[in-house]
Amino acid sequence: PALIQLREVEKTYGGRAGSNAVTALHTITLDVPKGAILGVIGRSGAGKSTLIRLVNGLEQPTRGQVIVDGVEMSALDERALRHERRAIGMIFQHFNLLARRTAFDNVALPLEIAGASRAEIKARVMPLLDLVGLADKARRYPAELSGGQKQRVGIARALATNPKVLLSDEATSALDPETTEQILTLLRRVNAELDLTILLITHEMSVIKSVTDRVAVIDGGRIVEEGPTFDLFTRP
Ligand code: ADP
Ligand code: ADP
Repeated sequence: PALIQLREVEKTYGGRAGSNAVTALHTITLDVPKGAILGVIGRSGAGKSTLIRLVNGLEQPTRGQVIVDGVEMSALDERALRHERRAIGMIFQHFNLLARRTAFDNVALPLEIAGASRAEIKARVMPLLDLVGLADKARRYPAELSGGQKQRVGIARALATNPKVLLSDEATSALDPETTEQILTLLRRVNAELDLTILLITHEMSVIKSVTDRVAVIDGGRIVEEGPTFDLFTRP
């Protein structure tokens, strides 16, 4: 089975059958095969962030099921969810690094939360910084790093708990084209080297073209097209 499965997922915010209710997603069914890089593209308000928040259990679906590596996220309590989230890394548009922590300590954070020992943390963090090409920046603070370097720290932090899935929420939207291409190259590398399944959302067609194997187009809370990226761009 696919590593990420959405089964007839609906998400409505607010308003008990009321006038203020917003249905962000309508009966979404989507599979992300293990090892794939699947892109979800759509304009602002299409439902992309909602989809990603459902996959990491930050939101519960109104209907349907969200299954990650055989575990139904939508059926877990808070405690089980916290444990399950270690299998899911996430990177963000604005990096979400802690300003008062060094690059090293930002990457260490998920390990601290998971209860890793000082020794385990030391053994894990430097190889991760090395993987993203920032071994020499371990003691720098986010304010001392470029946008691309900050996102590299974000990627190292997302990989700290050795997740099976990486979720990327507009991770290159704040970066210039050249830096974007470097980050996408890094994502392709970790996808291949760590057999990591990647679900990325973006509003940029160039990102979809550059890095994804498959693409789902989302509009008004519905998937209007889904298939191999190659097909989408070669269809007449
Ligand atoms: P995108 O990421 O594609 O911009 P979102 O998933 O953020 O789309 O939003 C989809 C729809 O759901 C929008 O109409 C948005 O206003 C609404 N929405 C998103 N989050 C909330 C929320 N917490 N409460 C109410 N409405 C929300
Ligand atoms: P020590 O035991 O030498 O006092 P700590 O483990 O307390 O070192 O770490 C002090 C700070 O040094 C950490 O908060 C972290 O920012 C940084 N640090 C720890 N280990 C490394 C390392 N291998 N390379 C770079 N910086 C490190």
